[in-house]
Amino acid sequence: MPSYRSLALAVLGAFTLAVPARADVPAPAVDPTVAAAIARISADELRTTDERLVAFGTRSTFSEKSTDPKRGVFAARAYLVDRFRQIARSSGGRLTVALDTYTQPADPAKRVPREVVISSVVATLKGDDPAAPMYVMSSHYDSRNSDNDDGEHDAPGADDNGSAVSAVLEAARVLTPLHFHGTIVFACFDAEEQGLFGSGHFAQTLKAANVDVEGDLNNDIVGASVGDDGVKRDGYVRIFSEALPPGTVPARVNTIGSQNDSPSNELARFAKETGDAYAVGLTGMLVWRADRFLRGGDHESFNAAGFPALRFVEPRETFNHQHQNVRVENGTQYGDLLQYMDFDYLAKVARYNAAALATLALAPPTPKVGVDTRALANDTTLQWNASPRAVRYEVVRRLTTEPTWTAAQDVGNVTHVTVPYSKDDWQFGVRAVDADGHRSPAGFPTPVR
Ligand SMILES: [Zn+2]
Repeated sequence: MPSYRSLALAVLGAFTLAVPARADVPAPAVDPTVAAAIARISADELRTTDERLVAFGTRSTFSEKSTDPKRGVFAARAYLVDRFRQIARSSGGRLTVALDTYTQPADPAKRVPREVVISSVVATLKGDDPAAPMYVMSSHYDSRNSDNDDGEHDAPGADDNGSAVSAVLEAARVLTPLHFHGTIVFACFDAEEQGLFGSGHFAQTLKAANVDVEGDLNNDIVGASVGDDGVKRDGYVRIFSEALPPGTVPARVNTIGSQNDSPSNELARFAKETGDAYAVGLTGMLVWRADRFLRGGDHESFNAAGFPALRFVEPRETFNHQHQNVRVENGTQYGDLLQYMDFDYLAKVARYNAAALATLALAPPTPKVGVDTRALANDTTLQWNASPRAVRYEVVRRLTTEPTWTAAQDVGNVTHVTVPYSKDDWQFGVRAVDADGHRSPAGFPTPVR
């Protein structure tokens, strides 16, 4: 009688006949310099920053006329500028702090009851290679209570979005002393709550200037690990990314099968692989959606400008704590208060972000890839542009129903290759790898005729 083991092997053998053998996908290289930097991210620093932000009472976009230096959105803005200037001292002149300011006209249909000055704080860490792409880590520093137009009463915004502003500052603090090829922007946007206005203005400005933005890692509501069911979930973070870029032609998606391979999806896969590899006590949960139902975020401003972008958000939200006047009603505490924050969890999210951000800015840019579709064939020919600093390329693949890359093949320092797997059955991507093992996000091939 055959043993269970030989039975299992026989079953496995039959399966292997049907599905081509896989090579393992190598884990992203853990760079010792990056690992040392992200280890400096401190839950105490995050707590101190968030406490300072909450202490401004309200950071509503409509509190901009407050003349009290301790209250309102522009008092918080001055604090953020000051913090970034302190961080800039370790940059040797490479980190510059700027305001992105404009006047939004009154438009009641767009939740703007009166004209208002909108002003985002943007710190830019110049890369060593002026031709390399730009990468963004973003947050919004405005807050709101139950009334979106209320600039008077408290809107503490500890989690939405003091959590992410604290994470952006902390990532800036630990990464600024390092050198990167690409330019990194640390952004704290205004007027997210009114309609993504601050990020929209900034992303459109980058688009108009033809800046090559190859990723926005947006963080919004990332600081609470206990959800509305009282269960603590501090082992993962959700990563939302749009399924299809704007302007997608549905018939073409049906032909190419690219419904899970938008540039934002590839960025999300990259962020998960990299964040997971740094083993900060967190795994990424990929969601192929732009955002949660009824909600949006600043990454969508980057998507609208044609840039890849994603959103990190905590595992399970407590809606009584978001966009609420601080009050107790029938024994229930409402309001976005510091007491619900888990700064150890937030530190993990900040480390996860900083690992992905640093790797993006160190790695070669994502290759632009084509797949040869001129003839019927059961193999696949891919071609791509040479990526600066790449010493070799990897062809990754997965079955069309699989979420993440399941096989990888080192194809050497070439810009085209034919692999013995059918383009009809597999999804392919090409990653550029530098001498230190930094890998780019995968470039998804477009059909070439
Ligand atoms: Zn928010």
